[in-house]
Amino acid sequence: MPILVVGSVAFDSIHTPHGSVDRCLGGAATHFSLAASFFTPVRVIGVVGEDYTAKEEAVFHARGINTRGIERVPGKCFHWTGEYRDSMSEAHTLQTDLNVFQSFQPKIPAEYRDSEFLFLANIDPALQQKVRTAMPGVKMVCGDTMNYWITGHRANLDTVLRGLDVLLINDGEARLLSGESNLLRSAERILPSGPKTVIVKHGEYGATAFFSPASFPGECRHRFFHAPALPLAEVVDPTGAGDSFAGGFLGYLASQPAVTPAAFRRAMFYGGVMGSFAVERFGTERMQSLTREEIDGRFATFRELSHLDFD
Ligand code: AMP
Repeated sequence: MPILVVGSVAFDSIHTPHGSVDRCLGGAATHFSLAASFFTPVRVIGVVGEDYTAKEEAVFHARGINTRGIERVPGKCFHWTGEYRDSMSEAHTLQTDLNVFQSFQPKIPAEYRDSEFLFLANIDPALQQKVRTAMPGVKMVCGDTMNYWITGHRANLDTVLRGLDVLLINDGEARLLSGESNLLRSAERILPSGPKTVIVKHGEYGATAFFSPASFPGECRHRFFHAPALPLAEVVDPTGAGDSFAGGFLGYLASQPAVTPAAFRRAMFYGGVMGSFAVERFGTERMQSLTREEIDGRFATFRELSHLDFD
């Protein structure tokens, strides 16, 4: 089943304790679609400026991603500058240049209309909602957001939350969104505001799904599920880990015959697998060299990491 994703296609300037890169290919939709492309066809909606060249386009095409919905307009691409200091789990935004995003109005190509899975990547919630409204027949809608939109665009974000099956956010964002410092209480506050399920990503500590009775009506007895993260000796650049988690998660789900509780749990493990690869190099570098064999090998390691019933 193809996934439609709308979000930022960007240039990122990133500083980590391992070094710095200037204007590497990034953006939430980019990281998401590269990760998801290992599991299912992906279609992207976004906007880029004149600084987006055939070199960047080739990164998407090498993974078979449909980029017909990436509009090219005069101006410059969205540019994010961020830094990781002591904690590799927390990005400090130094600068956000919206550039071509400022006047972006998403248009959905006719060939994207039959997409059954929709990912509203981190982007202005007003734009997320536009795409959500234009795709009323989708089977599953997942969304992400960040501090920037939670604090500055709350009313629009609340509208988006009401239309989500799954909200994927990190723990800091969950606390900010709910006003609760305890994560269980955060989830309990967020769930009634719309999303059927909330997945909270804890960086190097994995991710927890909090289910509501609407997550799997009549099917799921559990309130939550935790997927681990792989202990890594070296995290080079955490940028895109969250979007790669989302890409692995939704990509795997879209590749399955049905969205069952068991498929959902496996999808969270694949999310962790893709996140763990993303952080091994700067920007999209690791995703560009990754193979399906490596993914399956790491999935087996995740099993080993968390399996209780060994002899
Ligand atoms: P994450 O997976 O959470 O690390 O997301 C990283 C990506 O989010 C980077 O590649 C940035 O280009 C993108 N990003 C950062 N700030 C924003 C924003 N305000 N709107 C949309 N995308 C953003």
